[in-house]
Amino acid sequence: MPGSRGFDVKRYSVFAIAREALRWHRGWERAWATPEPKPEYDVVIVGGGGHGLATAYYLGKNHGITNVAVVEKGWLGGGNTGRNTTIIRSNYLQDPSAAIYEKARSLYETMSQDLNMNVMFSPRGVMMLAQTEHEVRGYKRTEMANALQGVKTEFIGPERVKELCPIIHIEGPRYPVLGALWQARGGTARHDAVAWGYARACSAMGMHILQNTEVTGITRDASGVTGIETSRGRIATRKLGLVVAGHSGQLAEMAGFRLPIESLALQALVSEPIKPCMDVVVMANTVHGYMSQSDKGEMVIGGGTDGFNNFTQRGSFHHIEETVRALIETFPMLSRLKMLRQWGGIVDMTGDRSPIISTTPVPGIFVDCGWGTGGFKAIPGSGWAMAELMAKGQPGPLAEAFGLSRFREGRFIDESVAAGVAH
Ligand SMILES: Cc1cc2nc3c(=O)[nH]c(=O)nc-3n(C[C@H](O)[C@H](O)[C@H](O)COP(=O)(O)OP(=O)(O)OC[C@H]3O[C@@H](n4cnc5c(N)ncnc54)[C@H](O)[C@@H]3O)c2cc1C
Repeated sequence: MPGSRGFDVKRYSVFAIAREALRWHRGWERAWATPEPKPEYDVVIVGGGGHGLATAYYLGKNHGITNVAVVEKGWLGGGNTGRNTTIIRSNYLQDPSAAIYEKARSLYETMSQDLNMNVMFSPRGVMMLAQTEHEVRGYKRTEMANALQGVKTEFIGPERVKELCPIIHIEGPRYPVLGALWQARGGTARHDAVAWGYARACSAMGMHILQNTEVTGITRDASGVTGIETSRGRIATRKLGLVVAGHSGQLAEMAGFRLPIESLALQALVSEPIKPCMDVVVMANTVHGYMSQSDKGEMVIGGGTDGFNNFTQRGSFHHIEETVRALIETFPMLSRLKMLRQWGGIVDMTGDRSPIISTTPVPGIFVDCGWGTGGFKAIPGSGWAMAELMAKGQPGPLAEAFGLSRFREGRFIDESVAAGVAH
């Protein structure tokens, strides 16, 4: 593990598993410490989701800043990080997006080794179906943009789609499959493990992971931020990162500024487990649905967001109906499946469907939000970029285009096609 200044963490290895097997698994230790809050930290990150934890990790790993607290009101990954459908891809249209998502995707390739935690990264391939002529043209354009950006994608025809995913009905009467944008090294990962892996590595560096600690206020003086009020008392800091996804508007309000963010519920559901029948991820954006199969055999299904702003972190019946109805023409086998569970998360949407990694009107406060329906895939890239911004006070190349000033200056990074429904 990185450094030995913090919580003493033993490496996970095949030898550790063998050793523990011999002593009835009684020697495993806690993955991260549960300390009392200190009165002051060099940096405080609000939000113990993937993005907040990755920011803390790269502050330590890349910039040597370890007097850091991550403050989470619930449990680690209990927000969107533990509620998403785990799709990882980087086939975005605009250059700044492709750069940060591809950086993230490439960090996922070695994350298990880097964090010494099996995050079950599974680059099984992601296909985005083209089911209208408009989509065919759009995805061919993205394929060319990706070629120039160094992101490997390919537009494939319907026969290849069928070969890669035999359960797809490609001759649907309303929405026949005309092709797909295929990213062979896209895929999925285990979302909780990503949060746990970063938390464990942060704790090993001596950082404080403070769960069940809600931020209720932000204090400032004439020169900038001075600290936070929490359910466990006041904590002083001169550098504060707000990384709270759908709650970004509320935290910004505590700090005295506004963000161009809307909060919406996004839902997903899983079917009963069945035998392996699909070893790729398929997204069907025209009909608003996407699907993959989990290692347990459940079909993991997601749809679009609610059509109105809200903070309801749970599922609703009309969404199951809408999403399954949308997918059934393309996947007729779904009509025979029972649905097991559904849930929701609160996503943070910007007008141009691109994230915000930025300084704010309050000196010392930084925000990382606006990842909307598609930020799981971005976690390592976002953490890398946000840590650089917080350590240096100004954005590096990955974050440069994602500042708040773009909304005033009209420099939008329009990803509504890549990210409107797709995840
Ligand atoms: C149903 C669904 C499906 C999705 N599918 C995908 C997908 O397939 N691929 C993909 O890339 N993305 C997907 N996403 C989006 C992705 O989950 C998010 O973009 C990402 O997880 C955001 O991570 P985060 O760390 O910014 O936020 P979160 O994980 O939400 O973490 C923010 C944390 O801040 C905490 N917090 C809030 N307020 C306070 C406070 N006052 N004090 C202390 N802590 C606070 C919350 O408790 C929360 O844990 C999906 C999202 C949902 C809901």
